[in-house]
Amino acid sequence: MRGLYIHIPFCIKKCEYCDFISYTDCYDKEKLYLAAMVEEFKQYEDKQVDTVYIGGGTPSSLSTEGLIFLMDKIFEYFDVTEDAEITMEVNPKTADMQKLKALRLSGVNRLSIGVQSFCDDELNRIGRIHTAKDAQNCILDAKFAGFKNISVDLMFGLPKQTVESYRNSLIAAVAAGVNHISAYSLILEEGTPLYDKVQNWEMRLPTEAVEAAMYDTTCEVLRASGFYQYEVSNFSKTGYESRHNLKYWECEEYIGCGAAAHSYLRGTRFSNHKTIDEYIANPKERLDKTELTPKEQMSEFMFLGLRKTAGVDLQEFECRFINSAYEVYGEAIDKYIKLGLLVHEKGFLRFTERGMRLSNTVLCEFV
Ligand code: SF4
Repeated sequence: MRGLYIHIPFCIKKCEYCDFISYTDCYDKEKLYLAAMVEEFKQYEDKQVDTVYIGGGTPSSLSTEGLIFLMDKIFEYFDVTEDAEITMEVNPKTADMQKLKALRLSGVNRLSIGVQSFCDDELNRIGRIHTAKDAQNCILDAKFAGFKNISVDLMFGLPKQTVESYRNSLIAAVAAGVNHISAYSLILEEGTPLYDKVQNWEMRLPTEAVEAAMYDTTCEVLRASGFYQYEVSNFSKTGYESRHNLKYWECEEYIGCGAAAHSYLRGTRFSNHKTIDEYIANPKERLDKTELTPKEQMSEFMFLGLRKTAGVDLQEFECRFINSAYEVYGEAIDKYIKLGLLVHEKGFLRFTERGMRLSNTVLCEFV
């Protein structure tokens, strides 16, 4: 079954580290943008989807009326299964109780709240518009509004962040009673204000060793709190894994709507216009159509599948590609099994705990 991704590239203010496609001065175009999206939806009329993920940008920064309109149109044009997981990304500063209640009533049943840290100084340094208190209130409000499936995003490797302050953020997230936590390390992207500050020595990032300790702290604190790691950066209570994101890691098909969204259908990847204006003018135009070669499909299946703690289903690999994973990647697989970074168990190839920590190095072999 396919997933549906909706991109809302509107943000109130650009965060210091962000190089995602999002625009800060376009709220006057909200109506036109949503109308363009409906045009795009029409070409997928009646397509069945069992996950919907509304991401950004900051989807929750749109007006409540706009978001309800969007949800109505999703249900009107797509065949959304009854048990579909419908997630919306939320910035704590942009969703009050009234908006959260409206979202819940409109069909959203999972929130992914961009908390990043429960330390105000850290939030300030990376240019987030909300405080730790805003985040705590947002989680509480979401619960009052009826959300039972709540995820928060946390970041580690932030400027001046310590293992201790990061641990406190993890503990605060657990104490807030969420059932899913994504913990990502900060990636310093060229062209962002933070990149320049680090280059000019105005800001210092934790060393690699400290960052590794933060990763270990994530696993330690979350495991001790009843979460299990199901992907390199994702932890959940049993039954609360992100079904939508699992589709990406399992190379399932997805439809992406909105500016800069990507789709993957029948082995072909394509994208939409990047800017809001171009998208509004041409919401149905498909760009950069690329049919993935079997080699590329195998490579994706391996490096995305290995991100999951369950690993790659080797029988599934053979069913999809006729050759076995050993025939294609035997040398790399044997090497990393010998090094104790991969293990072949019960038909699955997966990382060992040590391998998970060095996953970036190992995954490069399959690209
Ligand atoms: S809220 Fe998200 S998308 Fe918007 S600027 Fe910040 S990191 Fe980027």
